[in-house]
Amino acid sequence: MTDETQTRAKAGAMIVPVTPFEQNCTIIWCEATRKAVVIDPGGDVPRILAAIKQADVTVEKIWLTHGHIDHVGGAADLRDALKVPIEGPHQADGFMLDHVVDSGARFGMTGVRDFKTDRFLEEGDQVEIGELTFDILHCPGHSPGSVVYFSKELRFAHVGDVLFAGSVGRTDLPGGSHATLIRSIKEKLLSLGDDVGFICGHGAGSSIGQERMTNPFITGEL
Ligand SMILES: [Zn+2]
Ligand SMILES: [Zn+2]
Repeated sequence: MTDETQTRAKAGAMIVPVTPFEQNCTIIWCEATRKAVVIDPGGDVPRILAAIKQADVTVEKIWLTHGHIDHVGGAADLRDALKVPIEGPHQADGFMLDHVVDSGARFGMTGVRDFKTDRFLEEGDQVEIGELTFDILHCPGHSPGSVVYFSKELRFAHVGDVLFAGSVGRTDLPGGSHATLIRSIKEKLLSLGDDVGFICGHGAGSSIGQERMTNPFITGEL
């Protein structure tokens, strides 16, 4: 059995684009237990609930990559609907969770609520869903409290808005820093290995190797 087949057998994923920002709300599950996590429920909670039903999995946790409205706007409602804890982001994004309503007003998103996470995450923490374990990498720059969820076993990461296929996260929002973002990517993500595939917060996913070789923000062309 190749590693790839093994990976496919161990976990499943479904992307549900939510909010006017087409944010990749992601359901990831452990195939052995059918236990699942919803990453970044930014909004459109009824659509997320329908996708969970379609995947036929049991959601036990909500994970947040960072505090931006398009990633957290539906977190409070989804937590109420599923009665599950919210983990993440890093504490440095805590102030954003206290101002979800204000932020929603600025970006034209109504029906959102401020909330508290059940657990802030730090570099080196581990989180689990079923039999899957993910390491937490604190990757500031796009936002001060952005975290990446990395499964060594699956050779897979969910990178939020830190890194995109052919691009990187914007850094013009509060607490953003382009230099810090590029340092996070080079120091924490490139070292994960070229074979690591990732899902990101917007658009198509990619792999670390593909981005290391062709992403102009990493190769130095931009
Ligand atoms: Zn963002
Ligand atoms: Zn985003």
